Amino acid sequence: PVTTTDLIEPRKICVCVRKRPLNKQEVTKKEIDVVSVPGKGTLLVHEPKHKVDLTKYLENQAFHFDFSFDESATNELVYKFTAQPLVQSIYDGGMATCFAYGQTGSGKTHTMGGDFTGKQQNSSKGIYALAARDIFTYLNHKTYTNLNLSVYVSFFEIYNGKVYDLLNKKTKLRVLEDDRQQVQVVGLEEVLVSSAEDVIKIIKIGSACRTSGQTSANANSSRSHAILQIILRHNDRATTLYGKFSLVDLAGNERGTDVSSNDRSTLVETAEINRSLLALKECIRSLGKNSDHIPFRMSTLTKVLRDSFIGEKSKTCMIAMVSPGMASCEYTMNTLRYADRVK
Ligand code: ADP
Ligand code: MG
Repeated sequence: PVTTTDLIEPRKICVCVRKRPLNKQEVTKKEIDVVSVPGKGTLLVHEPKHKVDLTKYLENQAFHFDFSFDESATNELVYKFTAQPLVQSIYDGGMATCFAYGQTGSGKTHTMGGDFTGKQQNSSKGIYALAARDIFTYLNHKTYTNLNLSVYVSFFEIYNGKVYDLLNKKTKLRVLEDDRQQVQVVGLEEVLVSSAEDVIKIIKIGSACRTSGQTSANANSSRSHAILQIILRHNDRATTLYGKFSLVDLAGNERGTDVSSNDRSTLVETAEINRSLLALKECIRSLGKNSDHIPFRMSTLTKVLRDSFIGEKSKTCMIAMVSPGMASCEYTMNTLRYADRVK
């Protein structure tokens, strides 16, 4: 696994994997840990070959990524190798994105630091908070003060292909594309912030909004993508865009193979999630090839992130989250195959 003394080189696309520890219930159930991280970028899945004697018939499947983090990795360590190098790129006037990908329960929200339900005390130390801290450190550094920039935050969710503003009572917003292919979320709140603490306050408000009012639509936040954007704008009259950091807690990638899959609305939901994750993979691959053709119209997710997939200065990082248990093995393999193809 990666350690604090390893070196980080800036990359256009960085794909990492993070394994979470077995949780209490899994330990109680004597769940077998089938994932190991033997190297800095390697991850092994010990897939059961035999359904009866599970311990005896394990087949190793190796995957290779830029970095792999085992269960001992802290959010701080993960941040250092994933989102932190991207802070520099938004101050160079680029667009940066960081995606948390994986099945529900694999640690996406934990990694981002978007869990404010009370049980979790470390939310303030997730990627959201750490990125916010560094963005303000740069802003106040003498190298950047003469750029005369201000920091703004927006926070929204995409559910079933529709955008909902988490900073404005989940108002449903329209996504428009003009004749120069510029995409705009019409009426999206952008809050001016002046400290990292301000950003956390906004995230708390948005996260509470995300999980509130669980009526028919969007009953489960794991079925939606949450997008936090930290935006740098010039202090000119037009508040011209300078750089943007999008931090995306993606919807759970599990397929509709569960008990409720004969429910029509669940099927529609699942189809939409699969479509957007497929679109995302294609767009990141195009970015990696410096391609002129970005298939961003394939989904709302990629449409609203269009800026992030073009330009010399755009950089992306994906953290694929995996659960260690034998019971999650199939989902873990799906996650790893997806992450493998993003590069
Ligand atoms: P997701 O957002 O992918 O559905 P969560 O982030 O909510 O998953 O994680 C599920 C549970 O596992 C939470 O209780 C969370 O605190 C815990 N968890 C996830 N990753 C870790 C980790 N690396 N270390 C300790 N606990 C974790
Ligand atoms: Mg979550």
